[in-house]
Amino acid sequence: MTLREACDAGRQELDRAGIPDAALDAWYLLEYVTGITRTVYFAEPGMQIADEQYERYRSLIKKRAEHIPLQHLTGEQEFMGLCFRVNENVLIPRQDTEILVETALKFLTDGKIPAADNSIHLLDMCTGSGCILISVLYYLKRSRLTGNGCRTEAHARGTGADISEKALAVAEENAARHHVEARFVQGDLFANVGGRYGMILSNPPYIRTAEIERLQDEVRMHDPICALDGKEDGLYFYRRIVKESRTYLEKGGMLIFEIGYDQAREVTELMIQTGFSDVRVRKDLAGLDRVVYGRYDNEWKG
Ligand code: GLN
Repeated sequence: MTLREACDAGRQELDRAGIPDAALDAWYLLEYVTGITRTVYFAEPGMQIADEQYERYRSLIKKRAEHIPLQHLTGEQEFMGLCFRVNENVLIPRQDTEILVETALKFLTDGKIPAADNSIHLLDMCTGSGCILISVLYYLKRSRLTGNGCRTEAHARGTGADISEKALAVAEENAARHHVEARFVQGDLFANVGGRYGMILSNPPYIRTAEIERLQDEVRMHDPICALDGKEDGLYFYRRIVKESRTYLEKGGMLIFEIGYDQAREVTELMIQTGFSDVRVRKDLAGLDRVVYGRYDNEWKG
């Protein structure tokens, strides 16, 4: 059996099972099993694949044909150019979320985020795999080191909070893998957080409960429901986080959310009514509203 024959057979099986990106997924699994690069594949498609590798490949293709997401088969997902470990206890990082990270990095490198003792404290609420917090810390550290357009001297420290202990185990592993300084706390939103932060980031669960049934099988059956379900109107966590975050923000600190494409107006109003200023919306690369952010200039006095 050659590499090309294996890949073609994999693609056909995924096609028959109605997997949308059959050719791409068949290739990714072949790459995962054999460790060969795309260059080697194109240069030597007639190379033989070892029997035990082929067996492993076939069993992965079979699982993918049952709609198990690719990321759960490989245990990895790339986000912001970094490789994150994932499993069934965390939401698989989405490319849509990169705009949240870019927005945060822009404010951080512009030196617009309040620091305490020359250190900016970041909080990622509902951190899951940790991909948001870890990529912000990773790129902020790099831009401070290169000095490339970075206007902050302050060093950053991160806290990631999540209700799921099992998700936090994944986040810890990812933080170690990318050598960033982060601590993780388990609890219902801010319950065990403490301290003050110059920036709070969050991609909370925001799908309306009734819509969950209509999501793709891959999402509905394999991403943790508690990472998706924003309760009846999808805004449950925004209401709580907007309100509760005031106690944890430094004066002039920022709150940055990922939102669902149709939630910009409600989340903006919520933030304005709660005393946030400069509230703005940003679109993702697909042109959909994806991020809402604002600043809290008041001194919160309970
Ligand atoms: N963007 C995710 C999805 O469409 C949802 C993420 C979330 O609820 N925070 O599946």
